[in-house]
Amino acid sequence: MLNTVVCIKQVPDTTQVRIDPETNTLVREGIPAIINPFDMPAIAAAVQLKETHGGTCTALCMGPPQAVEALQKALSFGVDRAILLSDRALIGSDTLATSAALAAAVRGLAEEQRVDLVLCGKQTIDGDTAQVGPGIATRLGFSQITYVGNIESVDVEARRLRCRRLLEGAEEVVDAPLPALLTILKEAGEPRYASLPAVIKGLRTEIPVWGTADTGLDPSEVGLPGSPTQVRRIFAPPQRERGEMLTADDGNPDRAADLLLDRLLADGVFEE
Ligand SMILES: Cc1cc2nc3c(=O)[nH]c(=O)nc-3n(C[C@H](O)[C@H](O)[C@H](O)COP(=O)(O)OP(=O)(O)OC[C@H]3O[C@@H](n4cnc5c(N)ncnc54)[C@H](O)[C@@H]3O)c2cc1C
Repeated sequence: MLNTVVCIKQVPDTTQVRIDPETNTLVREGIPAIINPFDMPAIAAAVQLKETHGGTCTALCMGPPQAVEALQKALSFGVDRAILLSDRALIGSDTLATSAALAAAVRGLAEEQRVDLVLCGKQTIDGDTAQVGPGIATRLGFSQITYVGNIESVDVEARRLRCRRLLEGAEEVVDAPLPALLTILKEAGEPRYASLPAVIKGLRTEIPVWGTADTGLDPSEVGLPGSPTQVRRIFAPPQRERGEMLTADDGNPDRAADLLLDRLLADGVFEE
């Protein structure tokens, strides 16, 4: 039996987030929320592991009350149980505080039943830091394997697993002891299509909401007091001007090169 926790974040359904120049925070109003797309392969892997090895898989999300929708969706994809970590004390948490809160929730789950694996996406499409997974692993003292394209094998008896990491220009096969935290890449696959009964079951499931008190977290470890990072300024980079095409009337490339040279000399690009 293998018990897995999959961490999912609810994010705005766009990579074109707008920034409020006054508050330096994301403008979320009017933008539909979805499960972070990079977390979908982690859900798929968690459900697959449960089907292969037995045990349970639990989705865990830290977010505002409406993040319950992301968890309902995870349930429809085959996750057994969902927990929402939501508390005003968590507002303003940076990645350090977010990983502290999620690690505390995993510890809380481990009091009920052993947690063998925690799965995360490789990063989010809004915060984009890829820090939360490693932060959780460090706090829990779990083995940590990032950029996993495939979980090759899990030996529950021997309490070991083997993963294939996909790196730029290389692949790495890594063995590690359980418990472990993996960050999962899209190559691990997508959750199976959610059937209508599964969607309805997800919507009808009462999802427990845990606050800081339920996880034994000291409020000073999370939210703004627990967040050493300060965003000084956040802005969309100015749009680059379009380049100019220089084309000779007769289409002759030598003539075009002459035109370019004339323009560069006229613009003073070369020193006399
Ligand atoms: C200084 C600072 C202040 C901030 N203030 C605010 C604020 O006031 N309000 C606000 O909404 N955000 C705030 N943020 C953003 C917030 O810290 C991040 O959204 C959060 O820490 C997650 O980081 P990330 O999105 O980069 O996740 P990544 O590290 O890129 O995520 C990796 C993986 O970790 C897991 N994961 C990440 N976040 C969660 C989550 N919440 N629940 C479950 N699993 C998760 C997922 O599996 C995800 O794929 C702030 C960030 C900073 C740096």
